[in-house]
Amino acid sequence: MHFSETCDEGMPRLITPVETTASTTQDQSAIPVIHATLDAKGLRPERHVVDQGYTSAQLLLSSQKEHGIDLYGPVATRSGWQAYTEGAFDLSQFQIDWSQQIVKCPQGKSSRSWKAGRDSYDNPVIPVQFSGRDCTPCQARSRCTKSKRAPRELTLKPFEAYQALQQARDRQATTTFQQDFSIRAGVEGTISQAVRGFDVRQCRYIGLAKTHLQHIITAAAMNVVRVINWLEGVPLAKTRQSHFAKLAPIKSG
Ligand code: SF4
Repeated sequence: MHFSETCDEGMPRLITPVETTASTTQDQSAIPVIHATLDAKGLRPERHVVDQGYTSAQLLLSSQKEHGIDLYGPVATRSGWQAYTEGAFDLSQFQIDWSQQIVKCPQGKSSRSWKAGRDSYDNPVIPVQFSGRDCTPCQARSRCTKSKRAPRELTLKPFEAYQALQQARDRQATTTFQQDFSIRAGVEGTISQAVRGFDVRQCRYIGLAKTHLQHIITAAAMNVVRVINWLEGVPLAKTRQSHFAKLAPIKSG
């Protein structure tokens, strides 16, 4: 069950779309459906704050291009052992010439091949390969690849997706992002309300379509409760603290 809700200051927090998927489905797969639903109902937000399970380079791009929605959440940091090894050559140390379709490595060698392809999730990718003639005798080889014989290979995302990912990585390093992103925690309260107050984890029907109907009815009931509370001026509940967490200030003081 994937809930999205409004989070405008001073307004009631209302659940907008509810998407239901099999538990084995990756969270990311829900985003295109959620955004299409929001768009179709005229409820498209400028920004959709999500956790990392819902972001990918492709989704950052398609959310913006197809729906004008800023998918706002942390993205995976750089990948590969090189990114976590001091002195190793990760992607950031290669110069990419997008117009010439050539990548230059830290040793000044140019890539041998650049070919558009698809990864195992059917996302477009660009595998780039260097030449064995350059990589085999390279003095810096151990900083670049663990392969005994094969030359260095890189997998790039297409330009726009690559750019979207870089921008998201830069953005998530800022304090503004940390402050703005903190609002996402509110949806945990929504899940908690659905589970504890509306017993949503107890599936009353068999099959995805009927289960989805149950989730929609639950969300509608929650919205009614929320609107009434808002009209009556009931403040939003504060995040509960465990007994252990409550001891923390005493201990540190
Ligand atoms: S191993 Fe190949 S790609 Fe890596 S630095 Fe050496 S020449 Fe460049």
